[in-house]
Amino acid sequence: MKMKTYICPICGYDGLDEPPYEKGSNAPSYNICSCCYFEYGFSEDHDIDLGYIVTPDEMKEAAFQLYRKQWIENGAVVGYTESYPKEFQVNGKVKPEILIKQLNRLELPLDNFTFLEGFKL
Ligand SMILES: [Zn+2]
Repeated sequence: MKMKTYICPICGYDGLDEPPYEKGSNAPSYNICSCCYFEYGFSEDHDIDLGYIVTPDEMKEAAFQLYRKQWIENGAVVGYTESYPKEFQVNGKVKPEILIKQLNRLELPLDNFTFLEGFKL
């Protein structure tokens, strides 16, 4: 039986086995995405700098965007190469076509991503 999986709101990887944030309460899982290495409940406060000690809920989306930008600019390095599907990686990075597929899943306006220009597609 296939387990239900969830989508990472940062990178769009759909292999999470728990929801990153609880519906309603918004409580984070404190899991780490094996693809983008974002830790839900930690990274939004510690791995980016929006000028907050604790990022307020209404700024979460901005935090995700900033982290996503940094992660892609750094080459979309795979967080856990053993847990992330081998066929999605090349040299420890997410394959460009897979990255685009994942980002499309988040329904982001990719045309607005100027930082994708430097990323070889
Ligand atoms: Zn992710």
